[in-house]
Amino acid sequence: MSTLEIKDLHVTVDTEQGTKEILRGVTLTINSGETHAIMGPNGSGKSTLAYSIAGHPKYTVTSGTVTLDGEDVLEMSVDERARAGVFLAMQYPVEVPGVTVSNFLRTAKTAVDGEAPKLRTWVKDVKQAMSDLRMDPAFAERGVNEGFSGGEKKRHEILQMELLKPKIAVLDETDSGLDVDALRVVSEGVNRAKESTGAGVLLITHYTRILRYIKPDFVHVFVDGRIAEEGGPELADRLEAEGYDRFLPGAAPAD
Ligand code: ADP
Ligand code: MG
Ligand code: MG
Repeated sequence: MSTLEIKDLHVTVDTEQGTKEILRGVTLTINSGETHAIMGPNGSGKSTLAYSIAGHPKYTVTSGTVTLDGEDVLEMSVDERARAGVFLAMQYPVEVPGVTVSNFLRTAKTAVDGEAPKLRTWVKDVKQAMSDLRMDPAFAERGVNEGFSGGEKKRHEILQMELLKPKIAVLDETDSGLDVDALRVVSEGVNRAKESTGAGVLLITHYTRILRYIKPDFVHVFVDGRIAEEGGPELADRLEAEGYDRFLPGAAPAD
């Protein structure tokens, strides 16, 4: 059982107009096996939260804490965070030309576990995970993200989650750019990976539709760099019906 605990997190980013505070006091606890959905309008700071957890150098934590089972995550390098069991699927994954998916996955697995996986079981695991995600075996020999379609990028992210077996997985806009069939396959992959690893999942999304396939235990509405409202799955239904209007500037106070 693992716990990622975020307490009163404040994060700034340096822009051409100067330093801007983007996260303004985020508090959130994710336990193994739990699925937390973070939902909010564009520009509310959802990706900033994901990048801050993963340790992206562009984002400066000015106050607050992030711990994994009591260990200070903010003190860890990006690699140490991955080894500790924190996984981030990027909204805009980078291209790694020349490195095949197969080599990339094995290198990542070796780095995260601190030892190379046993070849025979590894090859079997990769094949099984790819087949579960309805991926063509030839995909393993392509360059990472080189010419990947939106759906292939997302499948590749979930493939990583399934194979790396993180304690906490942060999935940023896993639903963006997917048609309904791809959304179902990817969502089933997340559910399978959750089941097989027992990971806690932080599912970041603008839209409610992925929550038809991945059932959140908790929903957090993110507005202007902080959590404006929290609830159970019913809150997602309400957002689907009403949108974010009531949270935006100028909205009448909530009843
Ligand atoms: P979301 O994922 O909810 O759409 P983001 O975290 O991407 O929101 O962005 C929140 C705000 O922070 C936006 O106003 C965005 O322009 C700004 N921001 C985020 N990252 C950067 C960056 N690297 N440089 C400049 N501004 C940024
Ligand atoms: Mg504060
Ligand atoms: Mg985003």
